[in-house]
Amino acid sequence: MSPINLAIVGVGKIVRDQHLPAVAKNGDYRLIAAASRHGTVDGIDNFTSIDAMLATVPAIEAVSLCMPPQYRYEAAEKALSAGKHVFLEKPPGATLSEVADLESLAAARGLTLFASWHSRYAPAVEAAKAFLAGTTIRSMRVIWKEDVRHWHPNQEWIWQAGGLGVFDPGINALSIVTHILPRPVFLTAATLEFPENRDAPIAATMTFTDARGLDLAAEFDWRQTGKQSWDIVAETDAGEMVLSEGGAKLSIDGKLVHEEPEQEYPMLYKHFAELVKAGKSDVDLAPLRHVADAFMLGRRKFVEAFYD
Ligand code: NAP
Repeated sequence: MSPINLAIVGVGKIVRDQHLPAVAKNGDYRLIAAASRHGTVDGIDNFTSIDAMLATVPAIEAVSLCMPPQYRYEAAEKALSAGKHVFLEKPPGATLSEVADLESLAAARGLTLFASWHSRYAPAVEAAKAFLAGTTIRSMRVIWKEDVRHWHPNQEWIWQAGGLGVFDPGINALSIVTHILPRPVFLTAATLEFPENRDAPIAATMTFTDARGLDLAAEFDWRQTGKQSWDIVAETDAGEMVLSEGGAKLSIDGKLVHEEPEQEYPMLYKHFAELVKAGKSDVDLAPLRHVADAFMLGRRKFVEAFYD
């Protein structure tokens, strides 16, 4: 099969860090255009709007949408309406309903819609899922604490409504948890801490359970300086499982059992090409649903103002 003619929209940090290198190394794609108000990609046709790009380059077969989530629906609706397959960065949208609408549109047009969750492709995630499948889980703790000033400098959208605040990284943890647990979980309580000058939370604590009474707690915090924590710890009848460094390493009872080089975005693009070839979509909204539940059920606490 000939390569998929791909375009990228919203040329910013994640496009430069991950999408461009992953696409360049994958023979299933030919990157032919980009649309971004300011960003450009060397060596291809660049446009300042998706409308101009879709109107000028009919050869585009698929688009990757990498702008902040509040602006993703409009671009996705345009791309699907123009007959293009769509790869959505995480989180797939600003609301559950708008993504459901995109799913219907893709299905009606026979196009692929892929809601990507890059952390699910972290090296040790499948090994953790396999380990948990053979155990009884007594409890699970999720600790996702990082320094927002280091990871998100000058990103205003992340503090605006729909930008998700600390849930922007926290949803990565939720994407792993919902993938490795054997049964669906649901939120039982949450507290969201909002800086008094911001519309999105800087920290959140949550408890979840499942049909068998699982004890699951998560702490997300953007005020962590020094060592950063992206860990999932499970107490099981087969020992303590620690999935650390955002899913990169797996230890059982303190012994490292799985560590491989990181390949998250190459794996995402491999999966997207397979979906396009198979004429299928992959839209799992569970991580976004848990975030929506936290905004719905969570207590709201106002904390000290945050300045970059
Ligand atoms: P970013 O660099 O702040 O934004 C990406 C690009 O989106 C910007 O360069 C901008 O390009 C465009 N954009 C910004 N505001 C826009 C608006 N109002 N309307 C239309 N386009 C707008 O953000 P990012 O870090 O790449 O993150 C983008 C998405 O990728 C987010 O959903 C994020 O969760 C996800 N992601 C990020 C990372 C990471 O490490 N940064 C990792 C994984 C996933 P123009 O100004 O040129 O239009």
